[in-house]
Amino acid sequence: MTSHIFTNIVYLISALLFILGLKGLNSPETARRGQKMAALGMTMAIIGTLIQHEVVTYEWIIVGLVIGSIVGIGIAAWTPMTKMPERTALSHAFGALAAALVGVAEYYHGQDLNTVRMSAIGSEVMLGSLTFTGSMMAFGKLQGILPGSPWTYKGQNVFNVSLLAVIALIVIILVFFPSTSFLFYLGLVLALTFGVMLILPIGAADMPTVISILNSYAGISAALLGFALNNKILIIAGALDGASGFILSIIMCRAMNRSFTNVLFGAFGKITPPVDGAAAPEDTGNKQVHSGTPKEAAEIFKNSKSVIIVPGYGMAAAQAQHNVRELADILKAQGTDVKYAIHPVAGRMPGHMNVLLAEANVPYDVLFDMDDINPEFPDADVALVIGANDVTNPAARHDTASPIYGMPILDVDKAKHVMVVKRSMNPGFAGIENELYFNDRTMMVFGDAKTVVGNITKELNDLK
Ligand code: NDP
Repeated sequence: MTSHIFTNIVYLISALLFILGLKGLNSPETARRGQKMAALGMTMAIIGTLIQHEVVTYEWIIVGLVIGSIVGIGIAAWTPMTKMPERTALSHAFGALAAALVGVAEYYHGQDLNTVRMSAIGSEVMLGSLTFTGSMMAFGKLQGILPGSPWTYKGQNVFNVSLLAVIALIVIILVFFPSTSFLFYLGLVLALTFGVMLILPIGAADMPTVISILNSYAGISAALLGFALNNKILIIAGALDGASGFILSIIMCRAMNRSFTNVLFGAFGKITPPVDGAAAPEDTGNKQVHSGTPKEAAEIFKNSKSVIIVPGYGMAAAQAQHNVRELADILKAQGTDVKYAIHPVAGRMPGHMNVLLAEANVPYDVLFDMDDINPEFPDADVALVIGANDVTNPAARHDTASPIYGMPILDVDKAKHVMVVKRSMNPGFAGIENELYFNDRTMMVFGDAKTVVGNITKELNDLK
């Protein structure tokens, strides 16, 4: 068997594994297996590529593999779950940069720059370059290195569209006159600039969605590179990445009731300063906040027949998932029905809560999506909100002035008792006050989620 045929067989198996991997990611039950399948597919794709006869020497490839693996393992091991969007932005940036650099090298060698190849290289390098700077900007905004608020100026859209048109024109000219190298490098610089300009008007609130869109651009760029290099697995993997990133962006926009085009073109994701400021518990104007202690919370739990737990970003930040499961175990042991309500954008990325709860061995059959659990809130004795804020804010239903107006929310305010565990009256991601906290049936239990949930569990144990 020649290495060519072997490589193609390996690529075919890799492609199958990628597709099965993506399918596995559809459900929390199969997500781990899906992830492993996709990783195996990628390992096989790398092996298939390395045994090709075109490889001249392995020395530099091994150096790259070792350095890349060390950096990759380091990032995966040390990035906290709450920083996943930032990590994802960085990996797109590196992926897009790699695709762009390979494209530049192909152009520099100048071999066989026919119409098809030049179209692929030209578009790929431009898309890869703008994705690189765009992803770095997104990382900077999320990490707080750059200001998170949108940066707008008069005529911004006209400028951006014109810049994009110039880049497209350059690619078209290059297809017919591939040897005009100054145009190639001018296009490269303009594409790098465009990536920055594209993200400037987009607020940090929309950044996770933008990252998903950039993920899709990086995929398309890799697929185009596959055409330039005549590498089938790159085309398949890039197309899968491009399509899934695009679909994910649309799902996220729907879950937040955001217009896809608004997120794409920016200046609409402005973070609104908190209404009345980020009020401290003692500074809430005329509105009353009822706060309680873990002991009081435990007493309510003692007499509850049904509890719905609503996890949010704060649970992830506090790493309280294990304590939450312990509390749920005790409640179950006393005969209380315990369910978890999962909002599609709770946390900082889709599936954030599912992953954390799976880590704490919470069974999948007690996790319910928003649409399935919402009708159950009126019958629940307690809705226990742990570090969730925006996804429970009733203002989303009726306050047309609210930035989250129209966002589907979890109907926790309809439960007989609402308990909210958070550290202060500070707002969540959307930067707005939550009217749930002033509800007569709401009891705030202030403190770090891990500590508070641990204390409630202890008090409940003592009440036995
Ligand atoms: P929020 O960001 O609305 O609120 C989280 C709350 O957790 C804060 O109010 C904070 O209050 C509290 N908190 C933080 N640290 C702790 C801690 N250690 N212990 C206890 N509480 C803590 O989170 P939600 O999950 O409700 O909503 C997600 C938000 O993120 C939505 O606005 C959504 O649109 C947005 N988003 C989500 C994406 C996704 O894909 N998941 C993507 C893009 C945006 P305090 O400081 O008082 O403790």
